[in-house]
Amino acid sequence: MNTPQDSDFRDGMPFLGSRLWIDFVNSAPVALGDFLATAEGWQRWRAAARLDTDKAGAGDLAATHALRGSLSRLFENLMSGTAPQPGDLARLNGLLAAQATHPHLEWRDGTLKVEERSSGGGGPLAAIAADFVDFAAHHEPARLRHCANPECSLVFYDTARNGTRRWCSMAACGNRHKVRSHRMRVAAVSSS
Ligand SMILES: [Zn+2]
Repeated sequence: MNTPQDSDFRDGMPFLGSRLWIDFVNSAPVALGDFLATAEGWQRWRAAARLDTDKAGAGDLAATHALRGSLSRLFENLMSGTAPQPGDLARLNGLLAAQATHPHLEWRDGTLKVEERSSGGGGPLAAIAADFVDFAAHHEPARLRHCANPECSLVFYDTARNGTRRWCSMAACGNRHKVRSHRMRVAAVSSS
């Protein structure tokens, strides 16, 4: 059912987490290096993420790396149901405080829904923080996963209806696994 998807990667960087904040956590894969190591890299990532690429509001690299560290830890906290570090929540709250929000009305599923919408102020780090807040409010932490390839550091949110997604990307880790288990089956048959 799963087919390799080029859309798992944009400009060579993984965008397969199903959420902006998770793609941000995935911006330093063990196998590929840190895509946000330089200001140019951070700008390239923002363009791939379809975020504001204006340099002025981008925040410095130290703040960018600090937010990524916080969200990586929060990913593990949500997955394991453990308490977050107060400093990680404080970092997010600081970014959220800088962001102007307004209520937004929407007719959905036969009822009138009220949601807080951001006017986009606060720059890309605030947008990433806001995406995490939306996730925390409306989504299922039980569907957060590590890629099943033990050598792969990528994580994702499983949006498959039956919740059985195992790989960051079929094209990257899924097919490698398929090839390997096929080889093992062939070896088992030829040695018997
Ligand atoms: Zn993987």
